[in-house]
Amino acid sequence: MVEFERILKDRGYRLTNQRRAVVRELEGARHLSAEDIYDRLREEHPELGLSTVYRTLDLLTELGIVRKDDFGEGYSRYELATERMHHHARCQECGRVIEFNEELMEYLALQVERETGFVTDWHEITLYGRCAECAARD
Ligand SMILES: [Zn+2]
Ligand SMILES: [Zn+2]
Repeated sequence: MVEFERILKDRGYRLTNQRRAVVRELEGARHLSAEDIYDRLREEHPELGLSTVYRTLDLLTELGIVRKDDFGEGYSRYELATERMHHHARCQECGRVIEFNEELMEYLALQVERETGFVTDWHEITLYGRCAECAARD
């Protein structure tokens, strides 16, 4: 929270209640859509419209406070960028998003470099499949 306040201040943005509220929601849960955040805030912040939530998320993404994820669902999901770097696996049946750690991808990138000479600057992958619960149901 403190880090986020500092980034806003340094870039000349005010810490409005709306910005604070959006970040607070993302601290409590991960991979939320703008509509998820809007739904969660509606009761406490009736003045907050969906378009304001979108604008706030755009700003926070631009400032590097929030990370925007696209899982091919037709909308984006958001999470705090301050979290450790990680990758995602999305369940195609229930929509759950699971995180897995960075080391596995670093290992893969190294293998690719060893085999092809390709040097990876940036990698971000999403696995698609079924979570443990959905897989167990079949
Ligand atoms: Zn599932
Ligand atoms: Zn994540």
